[in-house]
Amino acid sequence: SIYGDYIKSVIRTVPDWPSPGVNFRDITPLLQNSSAFRKLIDSFVHRYQEMDLDAIAAIDARGFIIGAPVAYELGCSFVPVRKKGKLPFKTISQTYTLEYGQAEVELHSDAFRTGDRILIMDDLIATGGTMLAAAELISRSGGQVVETAAIVDLIELGGSQKVREAGHSVFAVCS
Ligand code: 5GP
Repeated sequence: SIYGDYIKSVIRTVPDWPSPGVNFRDITPLLQNSSAFRKLIDSFVHRYQEMDLDAIAAIDARGFIIGAPVAYELGCSFVPVRKKGKLPFKTISQTYTLEYGQAEVELHSDAFRTGDRILIMDDLIATGGTMLAAAELISRSGGQVVETAAIVDLIELGGSQKVREAGHSVFAVCS
């Protein structure tokens, strides 16, 4: 993205959060900056406006912040991929491994139709576990994962490579 360096400059790194040794990439300064937030959303809209998407599947919770305005602009559906136990209707779920223990993401079973063209969005790709689980979930539900997209790709952790090796395209505004 032409705004990649600018977007990167408004993301804050918080050392030792949530635990010692972790550099957390905090997107709240980016959200506070209306011009940066607009450029971010416009970057995604520009990339996806000719891709004939049926839905954006956004990952709980920061994925929602970017997924909703992009879906609104593109005129496609918005589908929440949520953490376990949050969706009220019939769900399908996918378990994945974290550094310590396991996590689970869920999708409503009627979230889209078979063959629908889906873009998955989250704020950041670290180990790739979350994005991969979401992509598995969408594929198992009969959706066609057109691409996975994030604001930030922490390339050195190898997560986006893992997502690509699973056969999905990955786009990030900055890395
Ligand atoms: P992964 O599953 O790729 O290891 O971790 C990515 C998920 O954890 C995303 O849903 C993302 O929101 C969250 N995450 C992990 N590290 C960070 C970080 O440094 N900054 C932000 N904003 N989110 C993170």
